[in-house]
Amino acid sequence: MDVSHLLDDLNEPQREAVTADEGHVLVLAGAGSGKTRVLVHRIAWLIQVHHVSPMGLLAVTFTNKAAGEMRNRVARLLNLRPDGLWIGTFHGICHRILRMHAAEVGLPETFQILDSDDQYRLVRRVIRDMELDEGEFPARPMQGFINHHKDEGRRPEHIETFDHAFQARQVAIYRNYQDYCERSGLVDFAELMLRTLELLRDNDARRTHYRDRFGHILIDEFQDTNTLQYALVRLLAGPQNRLFVVGDDDQSIYGWRGARVENVAHFSRDFDPVMVRLEQNYRSTATILEAANRVIDHNDQRMGKNLWTEGERGDPIRIFSAYNAEEEADFVVARIHDWIEQGGQPSESAVLYRSNAQSRLFEQALLREDIPYRVYGGLRFFERAEVKDAMAYLRLLHNPHDDAAFERVVNLPARGIGERTLSLVRDHARGRGQSLYEAASALIAEGGFTARAGAAMRAFLQLIGQLEAEHRDSALGEAMAAVVERAELAAWYQSREPADRAEAREENLAELVRAADSFNQPFEDEQAGLSPMASFLAQAALEAGEHQGERWQDCVQLMTLHSAKGLEFPLVFMAGMEEGLFPHQKSIEDPERLAEERRLCYVGMTRAMRQLYICHAESRMLRGQTSFSRPSRFLTEIPEALTENLRPGLRTAPARGPMDGPIETGALSLGATVRHARFGIGTVINIEGQGSAARLQINFESAGPKWLVSGYANLERLD
Ligand code: ATP
Ligand code: MG
Repeated sequence: MDVSHLLDDLNEPQREAVTADEGHVLVLAGAGSGKTRVLVHRIAWLIQVHHVSPMGLLAVTFTNKAAGEMRNRVARLLNLRPDGLWIGTFHGICHRILRMHAAEVGLPETFQILDSDDQYRLVRRVIRDMELDEGEFPARPMQGFINHHKDEGRRPEHIETFDHAFQARQVAIYRNYQDYCERSGLVDFAELMLRTLELLRDNDARRTHYRDRFGHILIDEFQDTNTLQYALVRLLAGPQNRLFVVGDDDQSIYGWRGARVENVAHFSRDFDPVMVRLEQNYRSTATILEAANRVIDHNDQRMGKNLWTEGERGDPIRIFSAYNAEEEADFVVARIHDWIEQGGQPSESAVLYRSNAQSRLFEQALLREDIPYRVYGGLRFFERAEVKDAMAYLRLLHNPHDDAAFERVVNLPARGIGERTLSLVRDHARGRGQSLYEAASALIAEGGFTARAGAAMRAFLQLIGQLEAEHRDSALGEAMAAVVERAELAAWYQSREPADRAEAREENLAELVRAADSFNQPFEDEQAGLSPMASFLAQAALEAGEHQGERWQDCVQLMTLHSAKGLEFPLVFMAGMEEGLFPHQKSIEDPERLAEERRLCYVGMTRAMRQLYICHAESRMLRGQTSFSRPSRFLTEIPEALTENLRPGLRTAPARGPMDGPIETGALSLGATVRHARFGIGTVINIEGQGSAARLQINFESAGPKWLVSGYANLERLD
């Protein structure tokens, strides 16, 4: 058989990795050096040359989107669909395993995945039920507390509280939350992995089964695995299993979510792999590559690597200083416009930013120019309220004991079930260890409700019961359509919201029915014995939790730097490169977090193939206030010789903005005393630029040092 096409487009070390005959392999290499490509070719190589059954392979990557792409690339290389091949995220794979062994891990067959938003609501519910002060125990950090301990593999009983009352309360919240999940058959993201870990650790037969099955385990983006994921890998890797791991320590960007870059070093220590280093970058121009290398050089404690390219020098990196965020957006969109005029595809361009909220201005500017775009992250389809409402009904058909779903829709649309009735149900459920559904049924039978509340509750339970009975065996799309219709969701939104909002929600519900109708159950899910409904519900929950969007055709791509990992685009804009925004304010004081921000910057820069623009704005609205900031320190870490300033300095800037009586900086000198309406009295300690666009650093007596733009600051001179 001719397998040369599997090796033709690979360089020597890449081939070595793809064809490695023995032992484990660790490919440690910088951005754009072909790690993902090598992993894909390795899969094809194993199937075609070593005749490994696709069922004997497990490939893990970071997002569902990456998994989909990987599957397509393998299919293209092999010229056939590799049925039975498990490619997915850690979460997706653990979910599948738990489905197959639900009873053994103590879960109901119908267990549901709790996405992050539902988890937050549930944690808040638990805190309220415990009658704790929500000021002292806010739900958001408690959710973080629970996930952090789960990510480290700790159950409530493993947490040492040192007789500390506050800690003990936190652990009690965790315990009650977990009890609630168990009662309702709910599994949060971290739990998916923790349960699977416990199964493989404690059940010899199962561990042996999976070790026998997955002879080869391949993992992309290994630098972003967390403690639990690494523990899982170790459990799955028996003496006969072969691991193939690729990663880049310089691209570890999920430390804040529990990822441990040390796992790369641990892997070397624990498995003694063949080390392959890839040093040639095939993605970017020499200029972009060098600039990125120089920025990441400012981090210490790197494993260190050389990265070079045969590519052309290419254009300089273009730096644009905008007066404000609106101007930044206009500039970026004008450049995208030019790109398209010159024959480029919209989809070849990406706008990357630090936080989701930054997308809005770009969206508006793109809309004005009539350029199609897609926002990744933010509120995506399965996170929209109306979609979650309809899905909650479907979840109740699937499992009436799903308390989170019950809470969500028991009075949506409003049917006269008030807070008092509900807390009666909750108390009853807690007292008897029942689900809300069971408790409500029992209360109806015992006459525990008032006549009105009882009738309303009965109507709700009947609706669920009837829908379940009628659609137990019908196609998924039909069941979904029935839910939307019989729950009268559209009418409910119409009665409460402006027509256009309600219409948009109705369209989304129609889209949801279409999605259910055309849902193709993955072959592997079917094999694993999942019903189409279970697959569909799981997919929705897993996608909602992932900060990345669906596949799209020809649109400009807007996304956070985090979601851009692993991707590449000919034209890249990095926007909002300002101190306080990127690096993020919270990271500036902490050297480790600052280093992670710098890696994120490296990830962003190395997404660019041909052209890279870096933009910053001197002022922008943040949390309802105009703030002024300096360019990001990362900008100053790029050698000037590699850049071109599109608006050099601030000196040539025309006067803009409201000019009611600002002081010309010509009149101000270092040491001058001024008064600012909000910050009070201060001394000028630094001046950059001239005229109304000059930036002044003023040390305010009470507010401390601030940078202000002269033209906007309305300073009153005192001396
Ligand atoms: P990242 O660290 O960003 O995930 P990576 O190391 O996974 O990057 P890939 O995405 O696999 O890199 O490859 C980067 C680009 O280089 C892709 O367009 C890929 O097709 C191309 N490439 C990789 N190796 C070669 C090669 N030997 N010949 C030609 N092109 C290559
Ligand atoms: Mg990659």
